[in-house]
Amino acid sequence: MDCIFCKIIDKETPSDIIYENDEVIVIKDVNPKAPVHLLIIPKKHIPSVNHIEAKDKALIGDLILTAKEIAEEKNLKGYKLLINVGREGGQIIDHIHLHLLSGRPIELP
Ligand code: 5GP
Ligand code: ZN
Repeated sequence: MDCIFCKIIDKETPSDIIYENDEVIVIKDVNPKAPVHLLIIPKKHIPSVNHIEAKDKALIGDLILTAKEIAEEKNLKGYKLLINVGREGGQIIDHIHLHLLSGRPIELP
């Protein structure tokens, strides 16, 4: 499958990995829009929020829980979590991901 995030997950494409477990990987965004800009990506290829199914509930919850844990670890005072959905929603990569943005100034991706 020609998916850049699947290739990052499979280590076929290099990336700056912040955290990884069996379900989720967290990488630095290659083109950061804020001083801290991380992407929290499920290892399962789900194209977008529009493709989430009931069986994915726990996995989607994990994305937010992972964001919270990383923010805690990095002592972030505040942050934004963002999911773009569809081209008109600003989504470029068709593999669901949660943006974690922090620091100032924050320009939304
Ligand atoms: P989207 O617009 O789909 O919500 O966000 C995609 C994000 O992935 C963008 O912020 C973009 O900078 C980032 N991105 C695109 N290609 C790569 C890549 O190859 N490596 C990393 N680390 N980030 C990428
Ligand atoms: Zn993928």
